[in-house]
Amino acid sequence: MTRAGVYLSLPFCPSHCAYCSNPAARFSAEKGEAYLLRLLRELETAAPDWAAHTVDTVYIGGGTPTLFAPEQIRRLLEGVARHLNLAADAEITSEANPESVTPTSTAGLIAAGVNRISIGAQSFQERHLLALGRIHTPERVATAVQIARDAGFSNLSLDLIFSLPDQRPEEWADDLSRLIDLRPDHVSAYGLAIENGTPLWVQVQTGKVRVPDAEGYDALYSAAVERLAAAGYRRYEVSNFARPGFECRHNLGYWRGGDYLGLGAGAASHRDGYRYGQMDDVNAYLKQPPGFQPSTHAERLTPRQRAHERAIFGLRTAEGIDLNDIQAATGIDLAAIAAVELERLVASGLITGDGERFRPTPRGFLFGDSVGAALAHLPDE
Ligand code: SF4
Repeated sequence: MTRAGVYLSLPFCPSHCAYCSNPAARFSAEKGEAYLLRLLRELETAAPDWAAHTVDTVYIGGGTPTLFAPEQIRRLLEGVARHLNLAADAEITSEANPESVTPTSTAGLIAAGVNRISIGAQSFQERHLLALGRIHTPERVATAVQIARDAGFSNLSLDLIFSLPDQRPEEWADDLSRLIDLRPDHVSAYGLAIENGTPLWVQVQTGKVRVPDAEGYDALYSAAVERLAAAGYRRYEVSNFARPGFECRHNLGYWRGGDYLGLGAGAASHRDGYRYGQMDDVNAYLKQPPGFQPSTHAERLTPRQRAHERAIFGLRTAEGIDLNDIQAATGIDLAAIAAVELERLVASGLITGDGERFRPTPRGFLFGDSVGAALAHLPDE
């Protein structure tokens, strides 16, 4: 059976962060329950198409999934187990924000079958948390980690964001120290993206705040790589670091070009080169009639597009790409089509390889976008 990941979108938040373009809705018990029922219906509708897949990862994201009652998360995962072929050793992750990590919510997640928790710490500086519109304090992150560990989570990830408005290098150094002190198993460190139309975007556009320039960004990123490596975290993707054996299997599935079923508002799916997404708006999603078709803006990827995507995503990971594997999966011989581009990337020190297998160099991790851009426009066969 082919493997697949399942993404369950629970796009509700108690408030909206200043940098976030996710159209997360305000949570209410009534709306949450209606949404859950709709999502379970979508799962039921989609399941027959996924009968030949083994689901070995499930990711509950949002939003803030821990706004839902533990009993609702249990029903959701029971639905996945009932309608899909869920592997016995599946990695099942739930995102959580620090303020909603409580003994009740974490015990409920464990009882429902969740075995990995990803907590959005984002910063340990009060002023940055306030500017980002986060509603937790730096101290609450440590409390949340302790609560999750006490509940039994032995696979715990923390998210941090860098390249924040007016961020000083010493603040970032302090963030990394405080994160390492909490001994997470996995770390995601993302550079802040200024998304069009967000309150933060307006502040940047009007000159109210300034984000670090490219040089500043690189320095902050390099500091993270160095500090995390020294603390035993291996970079296995541009923004992701893990202690050995704690790499996120769900995300590896995306980067390897695998199949995934996304359910809920804003979720995307991919199967056999066919990609489709669910509408973003929660209210519109809730209004869909019973038996609705779960796909909007569907797109059939050509073999060439699939090969490109596998190369671009693969070259953001430490394991890199194997051109024979890509050819076996897509029929496209990148060794022939992209020989010049790959050679140029090797010559410029961004990737290293032997003609068949390629992976990013430390410089290539830093300039991952340049690697992607070089492969984005390949000549015709
Ligand atoms: S908690 Fe996450 S999804 Fe919700 S508004 Fe903040 S950044 Fe967006």
